[in-house]
Amino acid sequence: MTDPRGNDTGAPALVIETEIAIIGGGLSGTLAAVTLARAGHDVTLIDRHAVYPPDFRVEKIGGEQVDILRRLGLLDALKAGATPFDEIVNARRGRILDRTRSRHYGFLYQDLVATMRAQLPGTVRFVVGRVEDLRTGVDRQTVSILDQGTVSARLVILATGMGDVLRRSLGIERRFIHQRQSLTFGFNIKPAGDAAFRYPALTYYGEKVSDGIDYLSLFPTAAGMRANLFTFRDHRDPWVKEFRDSPKEVLAATLPGLSKVLGEFEIVDRVQNWLMDIAVSENCRQAGVVVIGDAYQTSCPAAGTGVSRLLTDVERLCTVHIPRWMKTSGMPAAKIAAFYDDANKQAVDRRALQLAEYRRSLTVATDLRWRAHRLMLLSRRRLVDSIDRNAPALGATLRLLRSRAA
Ligand SMILES: Cc1cc2nc3c(=O)[nH]c(=O)nc-3n(C[C@H](O)[C@H](O)[C@H](O)COP(=O)(O)OP(=O)(O)OC[C@H]3O[C@@H](n4cnc5c(N)ncnc54)[C@H](O)[C@@H]3O)c2cc1C
Repeated sequence: MTDPRGNDTGAPALVIETEIAIIGGGLSGTLAAVTLARAGHDVTLIDRHAVYPPDFRVEKIGGEQVDILRRLGLLDALKAGATPFDEIVNARRGRILDRTRSRHYGFLYQDLVATMRAQLPGTVRFVVGRVEDLRTGVDRQTVSILDQGTVSARLVILATGMGDVLRRSLGIERRFIHQRQSLTFGFNIKPAGDAAFRYPALTYYGEKVSDGIDYLSLFPTAAGMRANLFTFRDHRDPWVKEFRDSPKEVLAATLPGLSKVLGEFEIVDRVQNWLMDIAVSENCRQAGVVVIGDAYQTSCPAAGTGVSRLLTDVERLCTVHIPRWMKTSGMPAAKIAAFYDDANKQAVDRRALQLAEYRRSLTVATDLRWRAHRLMLLSRRRLVDSIDRNAPALGATLRLLRSRAA
């Protein structure tokens, strides 16, 4: 083995023989490792970081995402590491539109990954290191870890997020569906003065199409009230720099009705931002390796589908496909293809791409069709809310009929 300066340290090189090597211990790689190890597979998880560093990623989940975590036996872990809330007040132009009543959880991404890594059974080998090379084939896969040695596996799961290097080394290229599709900001917010915020969670929609703001989502986390601002603005727009320099003033000027609903606020620390490309990996049907999570397809943060995608990948791959693949020898491309052909996976991936473009058009499209659609959506929400408040039994029946028709 060599030290960071390239000198031989005399330490023996690492050589691990394993059934399944997972490269990338973010949310998707960690959940795959937990699920497979619990099912009795021999798993080695490799990540550059012993502890996932603070990074801006998903910070709130709910709905089907919680359902899949429950099915994977990880709901209790989520509950232990995240802040639950049951009602979101939705507002626009200084007025409350309606309320969303369902269980959600808020967290910081690094805390969620740490909570899930804490669920790794003791049988999982966790190797901290940067994978620099990957050789794949039908029978054995060889993973080279910089300055450490090699891991030899029957199957490799590539869960390296948006990093390109390893995918490229296998000839897996990203096909861009929409470059610079959206720009998302994250920051912490607190009430000005001593009073608490009026609502535990608030979604505040953009006031004008020209602002390019889809919505501001405010929700509780262990670190306090978190804000995610989902926009479809050009990253070179002077507004972006102005917002980063003076977030409170620019937010108050762009969403003038916000403080009427929320109360006066302060932004606590620096604003993080993320410019998202929507891309899908191509040429993945290869022997010995399977690609999941963001490494397979990226998602629009405003659509909130990234976690649904990666959870579906983990559930289908680890509970349906891998158990079948392991029953017979070899990992030919034809076996691996069954995962990419999985109807559930394909439906969730397709829906994520559709929702990404839908949210963008709903926010910024100016043609008559979208203007009419926006108006119709807002009117329908106000009508449903008014029925809910004045005739709750009728509201519940209408919701039931709608969910049956969907
Ligand atoms: C700003 C933002 C907001 C978002 N909001 C939402 C939301 O509201 N709802 C939602 O559902 N989704 C959201 N998402 C999407 C969601 O965060 C991602 O889909 C999810 O985090 C992807 O997890 P992953 O495990 O695939 O990748 P990552 O978490 O990026 O993990 C990749 C891992 O691979 C490791 N790695 C990479 N290369 C190597 C190597 N060569 N050797 C060793 N290790 C390596 C990295 O260290 C890392 O730990 C958002 C994304 C962003 C960017």
